[in-house]
Amino acid sequence: MIELKNISKSFGDLKVIDDISVTYEKGKTNLIIGASGSGKSVLTKCTVGLIEPDSGSVLYSGEDFTTMNTNQRKQIRKEIGMLFQGGALFDSMTVAENVMFPLKMHSEMSASEMSDRVDECLERVNLKDAHLKYPSEISGGMQKRVGIARAIALKPKYLFCDEPNSGLDPATSILIDNLIKEITIENQITTVVITHDMNSVMEIGDKVIFIYKGKKFWEGSKDNIFNTEVKELADLVFASNLMKSIRNKN
Ligand code: ADP
Ligand code: MG
Repeated sequence: MIELKNISKSFGDLKVIDDISVTYEKGKTNLIIGASGSGKSVLTKCTVGLIEPDSGSVLYSGEDFTTMNTNQRKQIRKEIGMLFQGGALFDSMTVAENVMFPLKMHSEMSASEMSDRVDECLERVNLKDAHLKYPSEISGGMQKRVGIARAIALKPKYLFCDEPNSGLDPATSILIDNLIKEITIENQITTVVITHDMNSVMEIGDKVIFIYKGKKFWEGSKDNIFNTEVKELADLVFASNLMKSIRNKN
């Protein structure tokens, strides 16, 4: 479980995150939705310590990350897996080397233990025969799966995925969404997924947080999102459904 308490962050005069409190639950895919520029990525960067919030606190399993020293933070960071926007695989490394990278950096495993763990992770994301390929030689969907394999290599307790479906077709997006959800349940990870894809909400929205202009406007589950009385949320839901129906007609 991760708890955010009254997180605020400004850049100059611009208040980007305004007093957000939220709890991400263990064993669930917790979704953050909102329009582009609403603050989803900044909130997540504040959560993992890539950006320092101006005020508020972040608790990992009850422990206050915000007041920890560098060494204590390092321990928590080892328990965090990240799949950030753009995928960010190392182009000059093979698929297997990409997945092994965090093991080399942060574990004390022997070479054969690392190699076994790489096999295990690639198998889990249904990529058995891609070890020696380079990122440029595989499809966008496969690259995301490598990214997921790398993010889970160290068996994280917490997993953050920023727009894991960006650039993917709808069918591949559903596969990636479901893979993230299955891995979350199997390993009882606290997973946070940023998305603006309503299909994702319907597939994996155990818990959904809606952010509008830096404020938390709504939280609930996929089952009650369509009858929301929050106008800003209805606009987002309706706009994306409208877009889809227009797209399907063409
Ligand atoms: P999104 O919801 O699309 O992920 P972001 O969290 O990336 O939105 O950005 C929220 C707002 O914060 C935007 O207005 C963005 O321009 C601004 N912003 C993000 N990062 C920085 C930064 N490092 N410096 C200044 N402004 C930033
Ligand atoms: Mg973003």
